[in-house]
Formats: sequence, structure tokens, C-alpha cells
Amino acid sequence: MSSMTYQSPWMNDELRMFRATVGQFIGKEFAPNQDRWREEHRPDAEAWSRAGAASILLPDVPQEYGGGGGTFAHEAIVRDELAQAGVHFGSGVQSIVARYILCYGREEQKLNWLPRMARGELVGAIAMSEPAAGTDLQGIKTTARRDGNDYVINGSKTFITNGLHAGIVCLAVKTDVSAAGPKGISLIMVEVEDLAGYHVGLPLEKIGMHGQDTCELFFDEVRVPAWNLLGTAEGNGFFQMMEQLPYERLSIAVGAVATTELAVAITTHYVKDREAFGKPLIDFQNTRFKLAECKTEAHISRVFLDNCIERFIAGQLDDVTAAMAKYWLTDCQCRIVDECLQLHGGYGYMTEYPIARMWADSRVQRIYAGTNEIMKEVIGWAL
Ligand SMILES: Cc1cc2nc3c(=O)[nH]c(=O)nc-3n(C[C@H](O)[C@H](O)[C@H](O)COP(=O)(O)OP(=O)(O)OC[C@H]3O[C@@H](n4cnc5c(N)ncnc54)[C@H](O)[C@@H]3O)c2cc1C
Repeated sequence: MSSMTYQSPWMNDELRMFRATVGQFIGKEFAPNQDRWREEHRPDAEAWSRAGAASILLPDVPQEYGGGGGTFAHEAIVRDELAQAGVHFGSGVQSIVARYILCYGREEQKLNWLPRMARGELVGAIAMSEPAAGTDLQGIKTTARRDGNDYVINGSKTFITNGLHAGIVCLAVKTDVSAAGPKGISLIMVEVEDLAGYHVGLPLEKIGMHGQDTCELFFDEVRVPAWNLLGTAEGNGFFQMMEQLPYERLSIAVGAVATTELAVAITTHYVKDREAFGKPLIDFQNTRFKLAECKTEAHISRVFLDNCIERFIAGQLDDVTAAMAKYWLTDCQCRIVDECLQLHGGYGYMTEYPIARMWADSRVQRIYAGTNEIMKEVIGWAL
């Protein structure tokens, strides 16, 4: 079987139908608005309720909580279809927030938040990073002090995806400032609508991913019910974050492979069309060799990713392999997209060409959800 006919081993008829529905929805509702979203640095607010109505939000959350009742395969399909369409939309973050609620929330918390998130009425954001603490999350300074039946929150977060439209923020805070390192950290769910003392900055100016809002969040004596603590006791936040990072890292790897494949496909098309010295670019051996290398690495990426997805669905994906997937597949994405841009010549540098946007959009993949240096640390510690 050649790589051209390769099928992911976890794919089945039900998933193929789901893929078709998701692809149609994205093609009709999201792709035509991408340029405008990019200009406005955010998706339309209604995009969330449309996505909810089309059942593409929380596809891997049980139906009893309003989700699609599927597995990570469903989530992977949504991520894959978005990337294939060149659309940036924070449904992956929505799924990550849902996963925290699902894994650590009490039953009444799940019933309160998950159905509204699945319908797109409540947009989720995850707020860990701060101006002075990104990689070093143990150093966060945002505090939540207990006051009667409330927590009172003070501090700020930065680089928060979905920040502008967020209705619920999964917030990492220090509930015990005297506890050293990871011990005093907790996760608190903050419903932000009309919340006194909560303020969102304008979307940050980025070099890529323009269609997605990334914001600073500010908390000034913000009161939330103590009921909103995630988990049964304070001080578990750091461990909860570490436990869920493989899910986030695998999701990022899905987008990486889809983008890699798309870059190779559009570049192959381009070099067959564009001529130099009286012949198509693909007739130059260098072009063919470079694309042959890219195609091979894209295929290796897909097979490795599929193995990780299968293991995740079976509950067997360990932290180290998830770190390998995040590091290697996003590095590979950036390398291949850059090579493909080179094969486009000057047109590859023009933002009207998809490859140029993919190049700028790809870069952050090596940075967020734990930098690739930290992925190598995770792998290195286990040697
Ligand atoms: C577009 C975008 C969206 C994001 N979305 C979110 C979000 O939704 N929620 C959220 O909480 N955060 C989000 N982030 C933040 C992201 O997770 C952080 O930027 C990332 O974790 C790195 O932290 P930092 O920027 O503070 O860099 P730093 O921690 O200052 O790191 C700077 C450099 O030092 C290196 N370094 C640091 N420590 C070590 C070490 N121990 N060993 C080796 N090298 C090291 C890093 O690898 C990096 O190269 C987003 C960021 C971007 C750019």
C-alpha cells in the first residue's frame, strides 16, 4: 500500500460521516469568513453558537453532559478539518477546558457548565500563563484568597486564547501563597459575564494566528463562589494541569500534521503549475527531491500521530510520548512549511498565498502548551 492510500487505523464509517459533516460546516460557515476574522483578530461571536448547533464543540464529552459522546478520534477530526481549511478557531481550547471540568469537576459543576459549552453559549479559556511566569508555572502570582463563601481573586494573565469571547475561564491561582512550589496552586472556574473587577485587554498583535483572539486578562478583587474550585481540595491545580497536558499536546500535534500535509499538497500543486526556464518547477530535480523529503516526513508524522491517537483512546498514551509528539511533529511542521514556502519563491512571502500564512501561523506551535525545549526536558528526564 502506498502512502497515497494510507488510512488511519482508528478511522471507521461513523467517523468518516462525522468528518464529512464537520468539513462541510467549516467550509460553509468558517472558511469564507477567515479573512475578516484575521483582520478583526477574532472570530465572530456567533461562530460559537453555530459550531455548537453543528455539534462540533465537545465531540468527545459524554452525551449526558451535552457533548457528542465520542472519543478523542472525534476531537482529532475537528482539529484536522479546521487545519486543513486553514481556519483558526479555539474549539480545541474549549475541549481542553471541558476536559478539566470532566476530570476534576463535581457532578453539579459538570451539569452546570458542560452543556452550555457544548452549545457554544459559554466559551472557554484556559488561563495559566502570566507576564512573569509562562514555562515556570510554579511562579504564578495571581492569588485567590478565601473570604466566607467566596474567593477574591487578584492578578493578571497573558496570551490567553479565546480571551475576548470567553464566558468561563479555567484559572490557575495561588490559594496558598505560603506554600512552596506547586503546592499552593489551584484551578478555579470563573464565569466572567458582568463580573465586577474583571477586565479583558484588546486582542494582542501577533505575527500569525490572526483569526484567533489572544488577550490579557486582569482580575482586581474579583469575587467568585468558593463552589467554583475545581476538585475536592485546594492545592491540586498544578498536578491537574500536568495530568491534562498530554491531551493538549496531542491536540496540537493533530493540527501540526494536518498543516504539514496541506503544505505539501498545495506546494506540489504550485510547482506543477509555475514555470521557470521554460518548464514547470517540478521538472527541476531539486524541487522533486525537496518535495519527496517533505512528503516522506509528512507521512512519518501521520503514522506516528495515529499511533499516539490510538494509544490515547486506549488510555495508554504516556507523558513522554505525548511530549515527543508535540515536539517532533511541530518542529517537523515548521521545517516543512518553511521548505514549501521556499519552493514558492517570492510568492511564498506574500500573505495572499496560503503558504505564507501557514508559515506565520505555524511558528507558535513550538512555543505554546509547553515549549519544545520543555518537551525535550520531559523526554530527557525519563532517559
Ligand atoms: C498565540 C499564543 C497563544 C497562547 N495561548 C495560551 C492560553 O490559552 N493559555 C495560557 O495559559 N497560555 C497561553 N500561551 C502562553 C504559552 O503557553 C507560553 O508562551 C509558553 O508556555 C512559554 O512561556 P513564556 O512565553 O513565558 O516563555 P518563557 O518561559 O519566558 O521561556 C522563554 C524561553 O526560555 C526557554 N526556557 C524556559 N525555561 C526553560 C528550561 N527550564 N529549560 C530550557 N529552556 C527553558 C523556553 O523554552 C523559551 O525558549 C499562548 C502563547 C501564545 C504565543
